[in-house]
Amino acid sequence: MNLYKKTASELAEMIKNKEITSEEVTRNFLDRIKSVEDKVGAFSNIFEEKALEQARKIDEENNEEGRKKYENTGLFGVPVALKDNIVSKGDLTTAASQILKNYVGVYDATVVKKLKEAGAVLVGKANMDEFAMGSSNENSSIKSASNPWDLERVPGGSSGGSAAAVAAGEVPVALGTDTGGSIRQPASLTGTVGIKPTYGRVSRYGLMAFGSSLDQIGALAKSSEDLARIMQIISGYDENDPTTADVEVPDYVSLLEKDIKGLKIGLPKEYFSDELDKSIKEVVDKTVETLKKLGAEVKEVSLPYTKYAISTYYIISSAEAASNLSRYDGVRYGVRKSDENIEEMYVKSRTEGFGDEVKRRIMIGNYVLSSGFYDAYYKKASQVRRLIRDDFLRVLSEVDLILTPVSPTTAFKKGEKVTDPVQMYLGDIFTVSINMAGLPAISVPAGFVNGLPVGIQLIGNYFREDLLFNVANRFEKERGEIKYPEL
Ligand code: GLN
Repeated sequence: MNLYKKTASELAEMIKNKEITSEEVTRNFLDRIKSVEDKVGAFSNIFEEKALEQARKIDEENNEEGRKKYENTGLFGVPVALKDNIVSKGDLTTAASQILKNYVGVYDATVVKKLKEAGAVLVGKANMDEFAMGSSNENSSIKSASNPWDLERVPGGSSGGSAAAVAAGEVPVALGTDTGGSIRQPASLTGTVGIKPTYGRVSRYGLMAFGSSLDQIGALAKSSEDLARIMQIISGYDENDPTTADVEVPDYVSLLEKDIKGLKIGLPKEYFSDELDKSIKEVVDKTVETLKKLGAEVKEVSLPYTKYAISTYYIISSAEAASNLSRYDGVRYGVRKSDENIEEMYVKSRTEGFGDEVKRRIMIGNYVLSSGFYDAYYKKASQVRRLIRDDFLRVLSEVDLILTPVSPTTAFKKGEKVTDPVQMYLGDIFTVSINMAGLPAISVPAGFVNGLPVGIQLIGNYFREDLLFNVANRFEKERGEIKYPEL
């Protein structure tokens, strides 16, 4: 039986109803991985034996009494991939960096612990741009994943491995992380649905930090119901991460079908400028029509500070990255080069361990934090960040959701932008402000342009992930099934 086209929700129910075992499901996906992974390159590490062992344990406990041990059975027995910057005990966790190429996790990240407590089966680590810096997966020091819709194209990034794995049917659902768009952009480019939750919704304990005030763990899947299920499991307050919020997690799944009549949606005029590809604009327009048919009311809104979003984001995220990455010095983690003297050890470990893009961010970060430039760059950027946030809050007091494109283009060819970092950064225009404001946003597949998927972005108010899933789900039902890439 070919299970790879099934959603995580369908699989979990089939397993609980004993129509199939978790072991069979897990084997089926491992076989799918074997048959397509050479082309797709979505994984940095696969835990075949461990996954099967976990699946067998689930099967043993798959009865009413046994399942009581599990907190939430929304993904019971279902295979899940973790992005390679999320630590899990006893598994290699490399952030796709040479400096961590031999790093084995010594504890479980909170999200991993929660997934295990829910009976999900962890099958491997997904490839990514090194330390989550990038938009194409080409900054991975391991290999660069390919877009299952066109293997010569990028799957997006930095959670490109997670997105490619889901799009290719290698796993039904995967965790990703999003600092400036790294879940939403690859979701858009691969025809998957991806959520970046509210800052503080999901614990970052056990996530290798990039920009600590921006990073959030979220997920990618084939349906918003699958996302609702995984978010139900991983969300919530965690005493190990003081930035998590003690705000109740609603029952996302039960709210999926709610009527959206009268829902107010804002279209920010700054997101529909002439630079936006015409064919992408058409997909967005069509989506708006569908939502209107479902009863939504649409109006134009304005987010004037959007024009400063990219420069502000690259100052703040690089400053935080420079501080966060100072811990990789050859002393405690990963690869150590040279024992001559301590200075040489730092320099050699970091020179050989980090790739070009990571070094570029560290240099930008240290520059904007340096005493002569701090006020002009970092302090200024922090002030502009506040204005960007205020823009969103003003608009979200008038409308329930904001709808925008996710990426200004469809998946681009490998090699097309990698030598021009600024070009690559400019592609983040529609996603980075949301991280700076800390708001939740979802990317939902809405159409195709020249055979390549295009997603649209819905942005909600703080902790309104429920509304994002609800609207995305109603939209998906109208849109119909997305076909599968031929591999
Ligand atoms: N493309 C953005 C960057 O390179 C976003 C990365 C992310 O969200 N992790 O910084």
